Amino acid sequence: MPKIDYTLSGYNRPKLDTPDGENKLLLHSCCAPCAGEIMEALSASDIDTTIFFYNPNIHPIEEYELRKQENIRFANKLGITFIDADYNREEWFGRTKGQENEPERGKRCTTCFDMRFEVTAKYAHENGFDLISSTLGISRWKDMNQINDCGLRAAEQYESLNYWDFNWRKKGGSSRMLEISKKEQFYQQEYCGCAYSLRDTNRWRVSKGHEKIKRGVKFYKEAIEKLKLSD
Ligand code: SF4
Repeated sequence: MPKIDYTLSGYNRPKLDTPDGENKLLLHSCCAPCAGEIMEALSASDIDTTIFFYNPNIHPIEEYELRKQENIRFANKLGITFIDADYNREEWFGRTKGQENEPERGKRCTTCFDMRFEVTAKYAHENGFDLISSTLGISRWKDMNQINDCGLRAAEQYESLNYWDFNWRKKGGSSRMLEISKKEQFYQQEYCGCAYSLRDTNRWRVSKGHEKIKRGVKFYKEAIEKLKLSD
């Protein structure tokens, strides 16, 4: 499979190594825009990576399918194996019961991250992976410490499993994330994912006089003409 070269900003991608020489990484992915830069960095570094898409938080199912299909599209492009895990949303709603009105980055998000990392770690343990990580932390809307705490907690359950807390935002990672999203014209979701984040984002929008979110219609596309010049 040929490597895709994202050198649109003249960036020379450094080769990454896993923290303790681990051989197999199971990367929990939440969506294509967050995953793009990370998948490209891992692929360019020849790190044996498998994508694990486990996000029963995403609501409704049409939104879930759209985010998942965008991620599959890019995984296929890079030749990265994609594991399509359960969509056990009843369990997610059960675990977050009583936390419906928590703010983003609050207790409900800890529950949500814990659930996703626990399933990722279990799958990793049962399938010969020695390292897990997640694309969640690249988003500037998220609390990286909160995510890393959940990732570490899940990996600690298994003796031969480590959690990689690499900061994907640093050294221009956030900019390249956008650059790749625009080049690939990924679907651009406008809320974190769960029913409560959709509700709260819409409430905020209405309070500011904006329209409610129209799901499934917005795709990254800025500067496409400029990018085409570099193709
Ligand atoms: S706001 Fe995002 S991280 Fe928090 S519970 Fe909802 S989907 Fe999960």
